[in-house]
Amino acid sequence: MKKSLFLLLLLPILVFGQYPIFTKTDSLRGSLSTVRTCYDVLYYDLEIKVIYEQKRIEGSNTIRFRAKERFNTMQVDLVKNMNISRITFRGEAVNYKRIEGAVMITLPVFLVANSTDEITIFYDGQPQEAANPPWDGGWVWKRDPKGKIWIATACEGLGASAWWPCKDHLSDEPDSMKISIIIPKGLMAVSNGDLRRSLALPGNLVRYDWHVTYPINNYNVTVNIGNYATINETYTNNSGTHKLDYYVLAQNVEKAKTHFQQVKKMMGCFEHFFGEYPFWRDGYALVEAPFWGMEHQSAIAYGNDYKNNPFGFDFIIVHESGHEWFGNSLSMADRSDMWVHEAFTTYSEALYVEYTRNPTKAVAYLRTQRPLIKNSEPIIGPFGVSYDGWKDSDMYFKGTWMLHTLRNTVENDKLWFETIKQFAETYRLKSLTSAEVIRFFNQKLGKDYTWLFDEYLRQAEFPTLEYKIIRQSNKTQVEYRWVAKENGFILPVELKYGSNKDKWEPTTTWQTKTYNTINFNPQFMRDKGLYELKEIF
Ligand SMILES: [Zn+2]
Repeated sequence: MKKSLFLLLLLPILVFGQYPIFTKTDSLRGSLSTVRTCYDVLYYDLEIKVIYEQKRIEGSNTIRFRAKERFNTMQVDLVKNMNISRITFRGEAVNYKRIEGAVMITLPVFLVANSTDEITIFYDGQPQEAANPPWDGGWVWKRDPKGKIWIATACEGLGASAWWPCKDHLSDEPDSMKISIIIPKGLMAVSNGDLRRSLALPGNLVRYDWHVTYPINNYNVTVNIGNYATINETYTNNSGTHKLDYYVLAQNVEKAKTHFQQVKKMMGCFEHFFGEYPFWRDGYALVEAPFWGMEHQSAIAYGNDYKNNPFGFDFIIVHESGHEWFGNSLSMADRSDMWVHEAFTTYSEALYVEYTRNPTKAVAYLRTQRPLIKNSEPIIGPFGVSYDGWKDSDMYFKGTWMLHTLRNTVENDKLWFETIKQFAETYRLKSLTSAEVIRFFNQKLGKDYTWLFDEYLRQAEFPTLEYKIIRQSNKTQVEYRWVAKENGFILPVELKYGSNKDKWEPTTTWQTKTYNTINFNPQFMRDKGLYELKEIF
């Protein structure tokens, strides 16, 4: 999801130096201590009853896991304001201690490496209500324009443990998951994956059982409840015919049928660039939500009011669907590397414009994003603290511009597009770090671009191309150099003057070139790469 400028107002005020002071809660949730690395989550079986009138949920989560070593103490996460009534292991209640958002569970026996076991956590409470979803997330309790109950969740920054107990760290996704939601009859509950059944229960209730058959990020797990109508469509590619399901408010069916036709175009484009949609077994779905959007895996939250942008597409459909490849399939292992989700997804928007229109339009699209770059802090955040305090949206816009700059530096579109596709396919359903991304690109592109990634990801400011023009009677001498934080920054620069083109290969020391006359076109340079251009007099 996109970070809004609104978020800037909500940042912690207590800031010393570059980052706020991190608390014990941050480290408990963000770091991989031995009470977390000792087990690997295999399966979550989450069941909740949703009580609209009290803005309350109650239920349980059974965690099936494999012991990675011998242990008897394990950490699960659930925020303090949610109540735990009991935790069971092999049918017996076990002891646990709550420290901030962590639940330290002591098992009655030591588990041995490679054994598989289960614990069940029974819990209830009023989960945090979202103040400004999806950015400032939590649960959303609303009524739709027809007065029907409309509930949704968004917890990307907040973390899944704001409403359900889990190992709330991005590095450990369950291999599959079941989400059961109990609600009053007459409404529908939509979650991730595939609806296996809906079961009538006593008391005028109904339970919807949703199954996810792929690994899933915790923050993607979602609950949507409303007066939904279902639109079933199909999409055919080389591997067969697949399900596209749209859950929209009953009154919006006709509008949605027309507007969501562009999903097929998006799917064709992204399968072309990034390989096959990663979750076909579970299908692709859009779920109408009472907020702008969110990349919930195989159940994308859609709330853009069926509107296209001036480039002729619905930004929420394209952006959030891009996340199915970058964020949901290929995922970062720590929140400090959030750019891996957002930079590639934002870049997918420009590629969508290139694919459906042309490369010139794609550059025009990128131009609209460039003024949004703020350079307030490095894109890569602090590690191990579940960081969510970015002061700007540079991981999106500077991120997409970094990729655009790299493409123009590579000067080989065939290799560039092969690399991007292989990147998405190599890390399909896997998590990775910034270092692995950089290693992958260097290897596939056959050249070391670490200096480029480091300059844009680890430094706040833009590099600056300084130049001096010394005009003499019959020639013009130009001196140029990079001023960059990374000493090895050697971005080549293409320039245009009149109908001529030239290329510089500046380094951080001054170089000189002589021309008969030169009056270069700065917009041409700005369209190719991300840097400041500064004339020295
Ligand atoms: Zn996003």
